[in-house]
Amino acid sequence: MKPLTQLSKKDLSEIKMIVFDVDGVIVPRGTKIKQIGNTTTLETKVINQKQIEQIKKLNKLGFLINISSGRGLYMLQEMFRDILPFISLTYECGSATWYKGKIYQHINSFERTKNIFPKLKKVAIKNSNVKGFEPKEFIITIHCKRPDKKIEAIVKKDKGLVTLWNGEAYDVLIKKDQTKALGLRHAMEIFKLNKKNVMAIGDNYNDHELLQESGIPISADKSRVKGKFYVPLKGKFLPADELMQKILALKGVKS
Ligand SMILES: [Mg+2]
Repeated sequence: MKPLTQLSKKDLSEIKMIVFDVDGVIVPRGTKIKQIGNTTTLETKVINQKQIEQIKKLNKLGFLINISSGRGLYMLQEMFRDILPFISLTYECGSATWYKGKIYQHINSFERTKNIFPKLKKVAIKNSNVKGFEPKEFIITIHCKRPDKKIEAIVKKDKGLVTLWNGEAYDVLIKKDQTKALGLRHAMEIFKLNKKNVMAIGDNYNDHELLQESGIPISADKSRVKGKFYVPLKGKFLPADELMQKILALKGVKS
């Protein structure tokens, strides 16, 4: 892996779309969630004005911007409200893409997850390690204080499903199929692009497939995912800020 400082103008020559992971990349890591009975409280993070301006500038230069997150659509729309006309949102780990008000569904997980959901609810209810279920449509996300053997054991019994622990929550996903790479492949179809036209940046285990599917993968956490280039997770700027500054500088635009 090379430091981002070594990214050149030539590297950018074929790039038409830039894919950003959200948590740990455009906003700091960490989700505040609390669930008591039927009441779930979830904090919405805001995107800094600086990143909004940077995304607008990239868009003006002709780059397509795709946001690829494990979060739900309602949350991403809230976070990116000011720039929705300029971006597409791929949500719940590649399950679907929102673009200009239209939704493209990439996977149907209903049959595969409907039986496990009540089992997970049952084990979560009296477990003080569980903080709550994040509202989702296609995946199951369970926030926990620390890794939880009981949850892992339940999912393990279902051969078609897999858990992914990201340091604060489990995503329960359809093995191999339900990944951010699925979302990217469909986004490339929507925009008629090839792998070489895509640059992607992510910081966590669920970005592995996404980064592999892109022409220029950028890791925002070397200890969790591999890229062609890397940005430090805890640098002076957020990883997305660092990347956008670099691209805008290479294109001769002030950031
Ligand atoms: Mg992330």
